[in-house]
Amino acid sequence: MKRDYYEVLGVGRSADKDEIKKAYRKLALKYHPDKNPDNKEAEEKFKEVNEAYEVLSNDDKRRRYDQFGHAGVGSSAASGGAYGGAGYGDINDIFSAFNDMFGGGGGRTRGGGFGGFEDVFGGGFGGGGGRRTRSAGIHGTDLKIRLKLTLEEIAKGVEKTLKIKKQVVCEQCSGTGSKSGKTETCPTCHGSGEVRQASKTMFGQFVNIAACPTCGGEGHVVKDRCTSCYGEGIKQGETTVKINVPAGVQEGNYLTLQGQGNAGPRGGAPGDLIVVIEEKPHDLFKRNGDDIIYDLSVGFPDLVMGVKIDVPTLEGQVKLTIPAGTQPNTMLRIGGKGIGHLKGGGSGDLYVRVNVFVPKDVSGKDRDLLKELKKSSAICPNHGDENHEKSIFEKAKDIFS
Ligand SMILES: [Zn+2]
Ligand SMILES: [Zn+2]
Repeated sequence: MKRDYYEVLGVGRSADKDEIKKAYRKLALKYHPDKNPDNKEAEEKFKEVNEAYEVLSNDDKRRRYDQFGHAGVGSSAASGGAYGGAGYGDINDIFSAFNDMFGGGGGRTRGGGFGGFEDVFGGGFGGGGGRRTRSAGIHGTDLKIRLKLTLEEIAKGVEKTLKIKKQVVCEQCSGTGSKSGKTETCPTCHGSGEVRQASKTMFGQFVNIAACPTCGGEGHVVKDRCTSCYGEGIKQGETTVKINVPAGVQEGNYLTLQGQGNAGPRGGAPGDLIVVIEEKPHDLFKRNGDDIIYDLSVGFPDLVMGVKIDVPTLEGQVKLTIPAGTQPNTMLRIGGKGIGHLKGGGSGDLYVRVNVFVPKDVSGKDRDLLKELKKSSAICPNHGDENHEKSIFEKAKDIFS
């Protein structure tokens, strides 16, 4: 059984608009859910008070109510009826009415017009979360770029100056998004920055709180939009960044430059710039951690007798001594000529992997030289036997027979 609306607000039937407003304000504050967490009774009262106010504050509805009672406003007032019927389903409408009256978020934040509101409600409708979102604005997005580096750059570390495309603060409106710099309370969320949606299930009501789609959680929208940025306060632009890459980075490493990403809409904090390292393959060297490997083919006579040979490094040539009798696949180390350690303190090494140079084809004089070499068992241990495999087979036969 519904209570009489005048009774709900505690006013007489002849009460004027101001009286009704005053009474509503007092009761709405008293029973507001934020002030009475988890209090079902207060919640019901809050709804009841709002329903009563919805009707009595509207001349047309009040007239019908006076004439026909609850039946006169029940079906016509969609939201009014919903309070009693769908219950919490329209809590959003309740807050809308409530905010309309008290000036919404703007009034709250400024604390003007309605003293002590902050104190009464503590965190406000949205709780701390909503407020934080608002004060910080909408953050700019992070920007990811790829940076290709040569092994030479990686070895010593490098400072790169890059031109990047990103969203920058609109100069026309200084990032406010508005020609005049003015904003107004968001008509969708009435300044709270969030919308509440309820769904009714067999387990009861669930209230979903989401960022307001109109203002993106800011609680206010721009008045007379800047024509240059369409009210966003940011535009596509270009900027130059200096990136200090330390020595020793690897493919897939990334550097985060805080606040160097896309500018935040309407004065929001900028995002980060994330620089992902790519390593260009080197023509001469392979990387192995902080060491680098160079493959060097050396002629057979030089391996036998030893030789001094020029080898490349990441910073010019050095002379490398190949000792006499060096075997194929030997690794010769040149200390400190690798990649600088990422954590500082020295560098890796350059390893020269020595291989034998084998010509694919020789002719004339070279062929004669090789034939001569073949005659020496010290150089050609198979004694120049054309069928040395057979001779090994026969040797084996000798042993086992
Ligand atoms: Zn909004
Ligand atoms: Zn602008």
